[in-house]
Parts: sequence; structure tokens; C-alpha cells
Amino acid sequence: MADIKTIEGVDVAGKRVLVRVDFNVPIKDGVVTDDTRIRAALPTIEYLVKGGAKVVLMSHLGRPAGEGFEEKFTLAPAAARLGELVDAPVAFAADTVGDDAKAKIAALSDGEIVVLENLRFDKREKKNDPEFCKMLAELGDVYVNDAFGTAHRAHASTAGVAALLPAYAGFLLAGEVKTLGGMLDDPKRPFVAILGGSKVSDKVGVIDALIDKADTIIIGGGMCFTFLLAQGYEVGTSLKEEDWVERAGEMLKKAEERGVKMLLPTDVVVADKFAEDANTATCAADSMPSDMMGLDIGPETEAAYAAAIAEGKTVFWNGPMGVFEMKAFEHGTKAVAEAVAANKEAATIIGGGDSVAAVNKFDLASEMTFISTGGGASMELVEGKPLPGVEALR
Ligand code: ADP
Ligand code: MG
Repeated sequence: MADIKTIEGVDVAGKRVLVRVDFNVPIKDGVVTDDTRIRAALPTIEYLVKGGAKVVLMSHLGRPAGEGFEEKFTLAPAAARLGELVDAPVAFAADTVGDDAKAKIAALSDGEIVVLENLRFDKREKKNDPEFCKMLAELGDVYVNDAFGTAHRAHASTAGVAALLPAYAGFLLAGEVKTLGGMLDDPKRPFVAILGGSKVSDKVGVIDALIDKADTIIIGGGMCFTFLLAQGYEVGTSLKEEDWVERAGEMLKKAEERGVKMLLPTDVVVADKFAEDANTATCAADSMPSDMMGLDIGPETEAAYAAAIAEGKTVFWNGPMGVFEMKAFEHGTKAVAEAVAANKEAATIIGGGDSVAAVNKFDLASEMTFISTGGGASMELVEGKPLPGVEALR
């Protein structure tokens, strides 16, 4: 992957630096309930503040209609939270490219910050509208993109505006691209990829790409049943995608041809309904009862997966092994999380919203080498798709 220029070493003193951040945080009653994404942008923000920049932050929040202000989606609480986290004055502008934004930016002293109102209050943001890009570009002298989570979208603030100003990557975005890109380009081997989650159809691109790169692929989660079907097993009432069985079979074959070990569950935890209080049992993967559904991997599978994970020098994990949100079906995901955390010889990289949530739930985040903040963007990067927000910086 061609390198992207980071903001490091760029002279920003006295300059207006327009930074796309991902402050798409959960808010309840006007208070940020999880500030992970704001904290993730702090290295870049603090670097700019220290460098004497006039820092202009822009982000989206949620899915407003794009017809103007909606109280529910205001970024004011995020600005307030940032003010508590950073050692610099933080102002808030009630619009994005309007009079208030212009006035607040003009009033900035070096090392001060203004957060603009939600970009998506204006429908031209998502349309990457050229006029809107121009208006955004007028707000800064330099552009920085640190919003990795939206880098897979070609919007005005992530793609269009980058062409109009000297454009650089922030530290968060650069770290994501370097870690995920490096994992694919030059992994320490064995490279073990663990894939789970709900559907094969969501992850085909990722599985396909990893068959080309990894030495071992571990399959769990709802998607494993489509693979088990491809092997000719019955899977009861488990989540299955009949339309993808053939494709799953092709992937198993491709892996075999390339000498990639593809591990499927040999035992599963089955339940009579999709509920916390279901009746459960453990059974072999080739003899699942026709009236029960698989909601987790079984203990024999856990042990086999843990052993394979222990051998990796690069371990990438996306997708829970079972319905980890329910206590009764969290065990497989927890066992895999623990196995990944225990492998101190490997670079351990976690991607995907629910996988990261699982790692946090089991309090293992600090044991991992890298936790991707990207969700969809991480998956598209792993698939080998060009990310518009990253390409715009090349
Ligand atoms: P990520 O966000 O990490 O990419 P996904 O969104 O693909 O992961 O999948 C996460 C979801 O998969 C979880 O909500 C989990 O409950 C579900 N899941 C895992 N195993 C099963 C299963 N056996 N049956 C149904 N859903 C499952
Ligand atoms: Mg998910």
C-alpha cells in the first residue's frame, strides 16, 4: 500500500486545521454515554493544539434527515465532553458552513478548538456535493482526516474536501491503515484469522480475501452453519443461508487447494429457542437435532480453536463465536477472546463492532495488540477495497 502522509512534522502553527473526526458517539439526555471515539481522536487533537493550530473539528452524528437541525443529533454534548478531556478551550458552532461557524473560527486563537455542528444536518455532506466541499475547504488552511470509521464513505468531509486543501492523515486513521494494511501485506506467520458473526453473506469479501492471505482460518458464529451445510451436515433450525451454501463450499475448496487450514466447529451448543432461558444441550456438529438451533461453539471446538490461536504469530479476529449477548451462549466467544489475549507472541488485531464489544465485555481489550475502531471501514480495508477517505490522502 502506498504510504499516506500523516500530520506529523507538518508546521501547523497559526494555521486553521480542519479535522474530520468520528464523534458519532452514543448520547442520552444530552450526555455522552461512551466517549471511546472522542478519546481515540485525542492524540491528533492534542498534537495540533500543542503545535499552535487553530483546530476546527467536524463530524457526523447518527442519521439525521439532512434537512437541518435536529436536537437528537446535535454534536453539542460531544463538544462538551471533549472540553473535559482536552487541555484547551473548546467552542461549539451551531452550524457547519454558516455564519456561526465562520465567526467562531475567526475568533480562534492558536491552540484553541471549535467543534462544528453535525455535518449531516446538510444533505450535501453525504452527496459529496462539490459546492459543499468548497464551503468546507474555506474553513481551513490544512485538512486532516482522523475519522477512520467513515473512511469507507465518499462524503464531502471525508473525500471531496481533501482534494481542495493540503491533506493529511491523523494518527488514528494512519494507525488503522498501517496496522490492518501491514497485517495483509506482510504478516508474521502463521497468520491465524478467526471469523464469526451472524452471516456468511456479510463477510464473503473478508473470508475470500483472508483465504488468500492467512495460514489458518477459524470459523464460528452463525455463519458456521452455512459451512456445515456445505459439508453435507444437517443444522436444525440454526441461522442458515441456503443461497450461500454453494459459495461456502467453494471457499472450503479454495482453502484446501491453497493449503489454508479451515477449521469448522466439531461440536455446538444448541437451544430450543433464541432466548436466554432456552433449554440447551451440547452435541456433535454432525448430529444436530432437527428442532434445535446452534447458538455457540462447543467445548471441544473451543479447545481446538484455542490451540490453533496459540500457534499464530499474527491473529486477526472478526465476529463473535456465538450469541455472546446472552450469558448462556457467551462461552465460546469468551474462550476465543481469552485464547487471543493469552498469545503474547502474536500481533493480535480485533476488528468489527460486535467483536470489539465482546472483547470489552470480557475486559480483555488491554491484552490485545490493536483494537480497530473501524467497523465497516476495517472490513472493507481487509477485503482489499480502496477506502475513499484514505485514497483521498494519497
Ligand atoms: P462484527 O460486528 O464483529 O463484525 P457481526 O455483526 O458479523 O460481528 O456479528 C455479530 C452478531 O452475530 C452478534 O450479534 C451475535 O449474536 C451474532 N451471532 C453469533 N453467533 C450466532 C449464531 N450461532 N446464531 C445467530 N447469531 C449469531
Ligand atoms: Mg456487527
